[in-house]
Amino acid sequence: MRAPDTPPSRPLLHHLPRVAAIGAIAIVPLVPGIPDFWITLAGYIGLSSLVAIGLVLLTGVGGMTSFGQAAFVGFGAYTTAVLTKDFGLSPWLTLPASLATTGAMALLIGAVTVRLSGHFLPLGTIAWGIAFFYLFGNVEALGRFDGINGIPPLDVFGTPLIDARAVFYPIWIAVILAVILSENLLDSRMGRAIRALRDGRLAAESFGIDTARVKLVVFVYAALLAGLSGWLYAHVQRAVSPSPFGLNAGIEYLLMAVLGGAGHVLGGVLGAGIVTLLKDQLQDVLPKLIGADGSFETIVFGILMVVVLQVARDGLWPLVMRLLPKAPPKTVAAGVPLPARTMPERGSPLLAVVNARKQFGGLVAVNDVSFKVKAGEIVGLIGPNGAGKSTTFNLLTGVLPATTGEITLSGERIERSSARAIARRGVARTFQHVKLARQMTVLENVALGAHLRGRAGVVAAMLRLDRADETRLLGEATRQLDRVGLGAHLHKPATSLALGQQRVAEIARALCLDPQLLLLDEPAAGLRFAEKQQLGALLARLRDEGVSILLVEHDMDFVMKLTDHIVVLDFGKKIAEGPPAAVAADPAVLEAYLGGVE
Ligand code: ADP
Ligand code: MG
Repeated sequence: MRAPDTPPSRPLLHHLPRVAAIGAIAIVPLVPGIPDFWITLAGYIGLSSLVAIGLVLLTGVGGMTSFGQAAFVGFGAYTTAVLTKDFGLSPWLTLPASLATTGAMALLIGAVTVRLSGHFLPLGTIAWGIAFFYLFGNVEALGRFDGINGIPPLDVFGTPLIDARAVFYPIWIAVILAVILSENLLDSRMGRAIRALRDGRLAAESFGIDTARVKLVVFVYAALLAGLSGWLYAHVQRAVSPSPFGLNAGIEYLLMAVLGGAGHVLGGVLGAGIVTLLKDQLQDVLPKLIGADGSFETIVFGILMVVVLQVARDGLWPLVMRLLPKAPPKTVAAGVPLPARTMPERGSPLLAVVNARKQFGGLVAVNDVSFKVKAGEIVGLIGPNGAGKSTTFNLLTGVLPATTGEITLSGERIERSSARAIARRGVARTFQHVKLARQMTVLENVALGAHLRGRAGVVAAMLRLDRADETRLLGEATRQLDRVGLGAHLHKPATSLALGQQRVAEIARALCLDPQLLLLDEPAAGLRFAEKQQLGALLARLRDEGVSILLVEHDMDFVMKLTDHIVVLDFGKKIAEGPPAAVAADPAVLEAYLGGVE
């Protein structure tokens, strides 16, 4: 099997372009033939890269579009400008202060903004992008629209870093660190949570991930990178004024992230390079063409953004990636298994639903339904389409609040609990409409299910201190994928699987939670006969291990063979329940399914 004890030696070829890039960065300022002007431009590319990398995480990966990122650059820049000029602090000492101000502002703004849905979020970022521009421009202590001049340069052991070749290094060291930390972050337990924000939010919540908190974490992280850029900018430029921190700049930063490749950290650097160079050229050419002064490049950027969004949604980085040697998929070491939950005693009461009711306006989707699941049982929940089965699942898992009624899990009421709280109590589910994150591999999607069994947070992930934790989580995901028969598909994109296999991958994800109660919504739909038999055998084995299962399924053969007890719904009402054989012979059930054919 996979999972050898010693990781096999991996070809290192794929590291070559990065090593070469870092080497080039180290050498460029030392080449005397390169004019200062180009080194200065390269410095600006680095400064913008920091902001664009943050936007890659926020917008490209996390799905939160921000036009207001330049304001955070401003917080970083103005903080150090005031502290070094008015209070005489040394620039290096003000870095923590710049980051703290930016971080605090991001927490405040983010707490209000990231909860906005749909188009209100980008609109919100435009609003504060404009607001802070005018704030910077109207505060006396910040020099109003004239700004603050004469900011001291950075220095190393008393030597000031003044010329372009000298400041190039701190800028690009910051960029390299930002790339490494950001890539580390995305490739971690918290990174998977971030990557699930865009199209796996509901699933993420159902596996205990606090998506509102994760959004805020990304928001603050992106702002901190912008604040770092602002701090550097203030000491490179030696002057700050409001205009580089306004909405125009915010739009440019967003364009960099989108153009470069919104889903890839290095796409941010590529985008920053292209936009900065293009802007420099356009500022030369456009006024001559048009015959007037003005920031005409903004118009070109606007058009460019629309074109990119139309023809290359993933930006240009994927094109570059095709030319680079591919990294081999990471092997997953076996590692120590995660500790397992002690299952409740077989036959003890686990789940009790009493008069659960769900109304959508006038429609009663679940009409005062009551039933029980005992530990170690497989209970079938069947009924024609629209009977209220999936809605019942949503009530049990806290995805929807019940209108009235009681739901008890191991003696504790859960009908008012959140999806996260219920997940923590060992209830895992699959979805009738598959909810896997598209831009993640099968393995990463399944590992999301083990989120609550890991510890490592953002900082540990960025510094790669989370490897033991990671090995256990990915090891568990691998084990569960092997168990459901998808062990050969670990590193494929989740959506490359057939729909039936995607449902099975959702079962593996649910198993990663180490559930005591498993809710499966039509797990056998789309499976071939042999696959169904395999699935049936797996569910029977899980029951033997003490897992309780509530099963929604239309394949009657499958349900009859597997279940200990069946509950039948029709138009939201429970019309029958009992052992499989009795239910199959119940006239009310035949009536519901076959419309009264004898
Ligand atoms: P089943 O899973 O048994 O096929 P559902 O629980 O999905 O049935 O749906 C039960 C009824 O509730 C259907 O009439 C469906 O249209 C309705 N319904 C389900 N979810 C919603 C919702 N979010 N808003 C309004 N109506 C809904
Ligand atoms: Mg359904």
